[in-house]
Amino acid sequence: MDPNVKLILERAKATAIYAAEKAGKMADAATKKAGDMAALTKLNLQIFDLNTDIDGLYKDLGRIVYLAHVGDESFVADLDDKFAQIDEKLAKIAELREAIADTKTTVVCPGCGKECSKGDEFCSKCGHKLN
Ligand SMILES: [Zn+2]
Repeated sequence: MDPNVKLILERAKATAIYAAEKAGKMADAATKKAGDMAALTKLNLQIFDLNTDIDGLYKDLGRIVYLAHVGDESFVADLDDKFAQIDEKLAKIAELREAIADTKTTVVCPGCGKECSKGDEFCSKCGHKLN
């Protein structure tokens, strides 16, 4: 492997660790409580936008790696920031997915797959314990 690219990959691993800790603090309390369709749409749109941003960042990373491969390392210093942005956005997406799950009023029975009401203690079809 190209030594410049190898260096970049080592750097990528080194900055990956801190991402998960940030996740918990970023959820927007207001949207987390959202229960209506408009709020759900908003959550899904936020995920869409974040994924679009992440795609752009992946593209940037690819360009930086390629430039390093051909000997231009002028953008290598930007890598940490790009990694941090992707980490943050992925964490935010995980939070939004959780918020979406919270808006649902049904749970799927782990025994038979029937959709049951969130408050039910047992599945009405197979009797499996819920929650
Ligand atoms: Zn069931």
